[in-house]
Amino acid sequence: LYNMVQDLKGNIRVYCRIRPSFSYEAKTVIDFVGDDGSLVILDPLKPHKDGRKVFQFNRVFGPAATQDEVFKDTQPLIRSVMDGYNVCIFAYGQTGSGKTHTMSGPSGGSMKDRGINYLALKDLFQLSNRRKDIINYDIHVQMVEIYNEQHTLEIRSCTGDNGLSLPDATMHPVKSTTDVLNLMKLGEVNRVVSCTAINNSSSRSHSVLTVHVHGKDISGSTLHSCLHLVDLAGSERVDKSEVTGDRLKEAQYINKSLSCLGDVITALAQKSSHIPYRNSKLTLLLQDSLGGHAKTLMFAHVSPEEDSFGETVSTLKFARRVSTI
Ligand code: ADP
Ligand code: MG
Repeated sequence: LYNMVQDLKGNIRVYCRIRPSFSYEAKTVIDFVGDDGSLVILDPLKPHKDGRKVFQFNRVFGPAATQDEVFKDTQPLIRSVMDGYNVCIFAYGQTGSGKTHTMSGPSGGSMKDRGINYLALKDLFQLSNRRKDIINYDIHVQMVEIYNEQHTLEIRSCTGDNGLSLPDATMHPVKSTTDVLNLMKLGEVNRVVSCTAINNSSSRSHSVLTVHVHGKDISGSTLHSCLHLVDLAGSERVDKSEVTGDRLKEAQYINKSLSCLGDVITALAQKSSHIPYRNSKLTLLLQDSLGGHAKTLMFAHVSPEEDSFGETVSTLKFARRVSTI
């Protein structure tokens, strides 16, 4: 049933999420958020009418949307992994726009406002338990960071039905959401962070949490599928960060991998005969879960403040490019 519902909507979906403003004085560029996925923003430098830009996505979550509301909307998609579908969910946007909030939740390890990663795993464990008389599931999770393309772990193809695997990335069998939380903390500690002019703890790597699901039903037939939950590196442009040296190199790698990701999703949306997976480590790693029968969801994150207007427009344009609607 989950799949029937999802198939009606197509295999690539784009959602937008606007984070709350942190300052009461700051002016917002958000003019209108529609229930139908429409979004209108205003250019602060142009008079009212000329400065209106209209976008259409599958859904838009305004600043007041809760973690649970966001999760509820993605739940059917996430559950389809238990029926054998590969699923990929991305968080895209400039540093500080709320990507990590959506995927992991606020930092500090509090249980309040946990993000999609945690809520998804919790839900999958519950579903596995509920179906245990009909099908026996094994759930493994894997955390991988991709930093500067060439520094990434080697990606190796396997002959089995599980496609790509990362030899150096440890696979952890998990039995409970507590196991998962511990694993995520480990990943956070290892995360590559460095200083930029925008945010002094901005994340310069792509962080991929992969959930592998193996199932075997009473008749002996098996399924294997995976769910990739991706917190992408910040999409802000190089010049704005005023960076040089290593930081500049990082920014160039990030730009390259994000534009490759955009190219792959656009090619898929256009049902093109050649999908350029091989152009970046990120798309190569996610290959199994992009295209074919896989289901893809991108969250485009934006900040509401005027100073972010330029980045907001470029995020929304990127999102529009990969959107099929
Ligand atoms: P990013 O990962 O894109 O750099 P973060 O998720 O770290 O951005 O968000 C930046 C800050 O804004 C964090 O302090 C985060 O807790 C807060 N934040 C982001 N989105 C929301 C939201 N929807 N509600 C409340 N706080 C948010
Ligand atoms: Mg982050």
